[in-house]
Amino acid sequence: MVSVEQVSNMFDTILVLDFGSQYSHLITRRLREFNVYAEMLPCTQKISELGWTPKGVILSGGPYSVYAEDAPHVDHAVFDLNVPILGICYGMQELAWINGKQVGRGEKREYGPATLNVLTKDDPLFQGVDNSRVWMSHGDKLHGLPTNFKVIATSDNSPYCGVVHETKPIYGIQFHPEVTHSTLGKVLLKNFAVNLCKTKQNWTMENFIDSEIQRIRDLVGPTAEVIGAVSGGVDSTVASKLMTEAIGDRFHAILVDNGVLRLDEAKNVKKTLVDGLGINLKVVDASEEFLSKLKGVTDPEQKRKIIGHTFIHVFEREAALIKPKDGQEIKFLLQGTLYPDVIESISFKGPSQTIKTHHNVGGLLDDMKLQLIEPLRELFKDEVRHLGELLGISHELVWRHPFPGPGIAIRVLGEVTKEQVAIARHADSIYIEEIRKHGLYDKISQAFACLLPVKTVGVQGDNRVYDQVIALRAIETTDFMTCDWFPFDHAFLKKVSSRIVNEVDGVARVVYDITSKPPATVEWE
Ligand code: GLN
Repeated sequence: MVSVEQVSNMFDTILVLDFGSQYSHLITRRLREFNVYAEMLPCTQKISELGWTPKGVILSGGPYSVYAEDAPHVDHAVFDLNVPILGICYGMQELAWINGKQVGRGEKREYGPATLNVLTKDDPLFQGVDNSRVWMSHGDKLHGLPTNFKVIATSDNSPYCGVVHETKPIYGIQFHPEVTHSTLGKVLLKNFAVNLCKTKQNWTMENFIDSEIQRIRDLVGPTAEVIGAVSGGVDSTVASKLMTEAIGDRFHAILVDNGVLRLDEAKNVKKTLVDGLGINLKVVDASEEFLSKLKGVTDPEQKRKIIGHTFIHVFEREAALIKPKDGQEIKFLLQGTLYPDVIESISFKGPSQTIKTHHNVGGLLDDMKLQLIEPLRELFKDEVRHLGELLGISHELVWRHPFPGPGIAIRVLGEVTKEQVAIARHADSIYIEEIRKHGLYDKISQAFACLLPVKTVGVQGDNRVYDQVIALRAIETTDFMTCDWFPFDHAFLKKVSSRIVNEVDGVARVVYDITSKPPATVEWE
């Protein structure tokens, strides 16, 4: 997207340089919470290659020791930007290392809360945060003041809890303001961004819609066309709606019905996207094709691969059938990539090893000679949801639980057949319907039913039957990295269980999954 203005050129931006801390992305998150745009890049970023000028720079924490031989270091050109700099933990140690090397191993590791003691009344960074609880997580410490720095805050264990350059707005703090355990950490970050860096607080989804529509139009130009796959989930729907707002029917959405979608999903998506949102959508029923390829396959990874490959194949075939207006051509492929995926691929720990097979559109780009367009790549999930609401997408869709690419194929354990999918789908729809009826849907992060191909005995209408088991799963999480199971009350479980065994043929027993992640995962396969 070189010819197109970057978001970081359109909004005042704080650059967060990531030294590998598990909290780095939270710095960006917090700044955006008070409407300041922030972007995170690896600590190895060359400032001359940035392409935009930050209003301020934050150096994150990190697992390394600045004095170690292979420790990462910041490009010194960052100091020539003449903008305020804030070093957090490792970031502070890095500032100290550059200015006199007074960093070493502390006698003991400090992990947990401390009370901040601010020594000056008038420093802009520490306004309103004196005496608050701050969160520490470090083993190294400053053994002395960096050259030309003075100390402005202490804690019981850290005589250099906050330092500042004598003449420049360069700060170091030993604690982590980005974690919520630092009670006034957000105030400190706001002091840095708004008071010291003078960033405008204009990062709102309203402003983003306008600038993004313009950016899409500039990129696509007056005639080219764009295709994209939709899944019925929030990301692809929001991205499609944005494309439609920008270029109308020159955007072509395709929903591939792979035979393992939820009950009536294709029909419902069509209704919502076409009738409700005016999106130019084509629904392709390829369920027989997918199911025939899945025949006899029981290995979960194999199932994922088959679905991923078949998807690419079907999508390419259908895209070729779309005939743009005279002389025009399809030049772009829309993808609903979000910022956490971008962070994952650029984070200092190196590119992630696990690529979700279904989401890997690499093959499509090569085969179809398409350029990728990713209008959501700067956004966090909650920003996408907010954007969706502003674009007029229903609350129900915007807050929909995530659904895996391979869909019900990985919720039917063992072989996937049409009959098995029908059982899992029916049970799932009853379960979700009851969750909605009881007002629980928005309290749960993800819920679904799984079909276990275990024959278990039951007695139905005086007959002994040997039928299968439905396992219900519902989890609560903020980030899907860890999660806990949802504590339904017994009456609810009783109701769902009784409805499923009574209404779904082929089910003799219902169980509820009470395992957290880790050690289990959210999905069963
Ligand atoms: N690795 C450094 C230390 O142990 C910095 C830790 C951090 O940034 N959280 O002190």
